[in-house]
Amino acid sequence: MAGARILVVEDDREIAELMAAYLARDGAIVALALSSEEAEAQIAILPPDLVLLDLGLPGADGLEFLRRFREKSLSPVIIVSARESDEDKVAGLGLGADDFVSKPFSPRVLVARVYAQLRRASYASPEPERLSFGPFVLDFGGRLLEREGERVPLSKREFELIAFLARNEGRSFSADELYRSVWGLEHGDLSTVAVHVQRVRRKMETGPQAQRFIQTVPGSGYRFVRAAGRS
Ligand code: CA
Repeated sequence: MAGARILVVEDDREIAELMAAYLARDGAIVALALSSEEAEAQIAILPPDLVLLDLGLPGADGLEFLRRFREKSLSPVIIVSARESDEDKVAGLGLGADDFVSKPFSPRVLVARVYAQLRRASYASPEPERLSFGPFVLDFGGRLLEREGERVPLSKREFELIAFLARNEGRSFSADELYRSVWGLEHGDLSTVAVHVQRVRRKMETGPQAQRFIQTVPGSGYRFVRAAGRS
């Protein structure tokens, strides 16, 4: 699920972080929302490729969220809930849920269900698998970056960082947003982000062009720009 953007809507932080950890390990870019309202805000920033949705949420519940989400997105939604009643399942399906996983869940089963839904969705709407810029080709499917045909040796996280920025070309993200989206974690040492940005730049090229593609935006963070532009 390299680079797939997955939104986890779950008010139990421990469960949410467990899901995020498993999905991020498989290369997904995970955002967490602890309520429907937070989820709406996340979607406005970054439309997800897939949503994992708890039903029992504070404020608007999961079914209400799903109803609103379906007005604007066809991305797969997997309901992950302890609510087992037929009414909830029928309501969820009626509102456009694609699958159900019962709590407590096996993380491996959850990951397998996510793969299945992403596969189905990708047949429906293929995404560009490769992005060319300057001497580089970013291969999302193969999870690698090439420079003039030679592989640039990026770590998994370094690849995810540039893949995330490239998928959202032109938009700037704060270190905090990158930490949440690429690392899938709410809290941690934000300097990790700057360190990874520096490493990716260093591995891509040396000299004054190092900041050509991954730019620092003063006061707001980092952005990816494919065209060299004015710099
Ligand atoms: Ca809940």
